[in-house]
Amino acid sequence: MEKLRAGAEKLGLRLGEKELALFQTYYEEIIDWNQRMNLTAITDYEKVQINHFLDSLTVVSVWKPPANNPNPKVIDIGAGAGVPGIPLKIVFPEIQLALLDSTTKKTAFLNHLKQKLGLDDIEVVTGRAEEIAHQSQYRERFDLVLARAVAPMTTLVELTLPFCKVGGKLVAHKKGELEPEITDAKRAISILGGKLEEVKPINLTEFPDRRYLVVIDKIASTPRQYSRRSGMPVKNPLG
Ligand code: SAM
Repeated sequence: MEKLRAGAEKLGLRLGEKELALFQTYYEEIIDWNQRMNLTAITDYEKVQINHFLDSLTVVSVWKPPANNPNPKVIDIGAGAGVPGIPLKIVFPEIQLALLDSTTKKTAFLNHLKQKLGLDDIEVVTGRAEEIAHQSQYRERFDLVLARAVAPMTTLVELTLPFCKVGGKLVAHKKGELEPEITDAKRAISILGGKLEEVKPINLTEFPDRRYLVVIDKIASTPRQYSRRSGMPVKNPLG
């Protein structure tokens, strides 16, 4: 885990033996399960460290558990193999993490991983974000909502902002040409109670491509009708 250790240090994170051992186990479990299901196309030891683990940890450049809220609630929407949620939980074990994915096989992996890593306070939820967002125990309950590689921005905000408390944040990992996506999403962000706070470029030599974190503050409650029914945010994006 040397690549990860060195990269994390650039983000101001000192990973100790315990954290590095957890990341090593996480890597081994991804590789093992990937033989039986399609978890990720990235399997090379160094690439997993950079493109999955370090990329997830870049969230610390825009968010850390606040001193006045020792156990913040965090949800990863479309968590897949657990990124970015699990790496963040390894470095901040105090967070209460929910991992949501619509694919049963992926959530089976996440449940297994949770046992294997022995991490407390992880809830794995199987279901579509559009539907789970209307359940009161998930609606506007989270201090931080994460999403990586799930959908274009306009669709993404409809899938994620309903989970975010007023006063909380959405942090979305994005790559490549972002300007048109952000422009298209402006109206949806406003309808859903969000306000674009920052587009933070990630300038680490580990990532030669253009990577950003899009930070959206939740400033008002999301109207009850959102998310619309399953599939609508993709088929007919707001805006
Ligand atoms: N976040 C992970 C990553 O960065 O590697 C996984 C990304 S993968 C490309 C997208 C994931 O989002 C898939 O696991 C898929 O099942 C899930 N997903 C897509 N649409 C969803 C929805 N509407 N509700 C819940 N999960 C969804």
